[in-house]
Amino acid sequence: MRILVTGGAGFIGSALVRRLVLQERAEAVLVVDKLTYAGERRSLRDCEGRPGFAFLQADIAEAGPMRQVMAEFRPDAVMHLAAESHVDRSIAGAAPFIHTNVVGTFALLEAARAYWTGLASAARQDFRFLHISTDEVFGSLGPEGYFTETTPYAPRSPYSASKAGSDHLVAAWHETYGLPTLVTNCSNNYGPYHFPEKLIPLVILNALEGKNLPVYGQGENIRDWLFVEDHVTALLTVLRGGRPGQTYNVGGRAERRNIEVVQDICDSLDRLRPDPAGPRRRLIHFVADRPGHDQRYAIDASKLQAELGWQPAESFATGLEKTIAWYLDNAWWWQPLRNRVYGGERLGLLPAQ
Ligand code: NAD
Repeated sequence: MRILVTGGAGFIGSALVRRLVLQERAEAVLVVDKLTYAGERRSLRDCEGRPGFAFLQADIAEAGPMRQVMAEFRPDAVMHLAAESHVDRSIAGAAPFIHTNVVGTFALLEAARAYWTGLASAARQDFRFLHISTDEVFGSLGPEGYFTETTPYAPRSPYSASKAGSDHLVAAWHETYGLPTLVTNCSNNYGPYHFPEKLIPLVILNALEGKNLPVYGQGENIRDWLFVEDHVTALLTVLRGGRPGQTYNVGGRAERRNIEVVQDICDSLDRLRPDPAGPRRRLIHFVADRPGHDQRYAIDASKLQAELGWQPAESFATGLEKTIAWYLDNAWWWQPLRNRVYGGERLGLLPAQ
């Protein structure tokens, strides 16, 4: 297959591209990525020079270049992961979120539609546009219940509202024009190559360096965690077997309170690399809660499991251990990002997710 991956230099996109290029040996993989602060070409280091791998630095919101990319690369599938993805940044300034997540998805859909319309009928049937989205579009849960594919949308942050908008655009392009689209809504991911402003890598690296571990409120907010490699498997499963026009929830039934996640990381690090100054839980530091902080996310992925047979391979405990081990061994990747100064603040001093 010839696969165009947007956002392929990001956290999940790069895991997908490494899988496609290094393990699946896809015929051709073209990454289209703007390389914002969150895009890291170094995450694709192992793919550079491999047969079929190509990288294009471009903004998905630019209609002309996107049409040209489709026409020249001639993909069998588009896997759309490019996005502004950090909730705190969306609260500080929503403009890039509207630009990339809404306008960018629109431009990409239009480019895909123009290309797809011109295909021969067999290729038109086989073409897929897979839009990767989040469970945050469903809003916040109380102590009970799960998000399903039929849960009404109720986004509460600028990030989730912009992703909800993009999901609706994708659904409309299927209903209106017949474009063979698929949508996945996934819970919080974690794993290697995760940008160090997000909760799990931030806590691992701050704890290693003996810095404060900032936790919003009392750390009672609940997130449902999925190891990034399991998400990649789910995306390939949906791409191959999903029914056009359908959405699929992806999640690992691994609900944890934020404070538990932070404590687990402290305890694992204490075992792997004891701190002479004492147990790392002493570094936990509660900060004022995020405005509109969603209380609980929990996803019901039974449709994906029943229809397409997907199952996560990692529990939260094994996935977290692999993640911590990766950060301990790969300072070459994260150290330059930790040292980068932006927005007047140093990474590692931003509050956690
Ligand atoms: P990320 O922030 O790590 O990566 C996003 C990538 O998109 C970066 O490489 C960035 O350079 C690129 N990008 C941003 N704007 C662009 C533009 N205008 N044109 C081209 N490229 C652009 O994000 P991620 O965590 O890998 O998430 C990928 C996708 O998965 C997003 O759509 C996100 O909403 C979704 N998602 C993420 C999670 C999670 O926990 N991280 C969970 C569910 C869904």
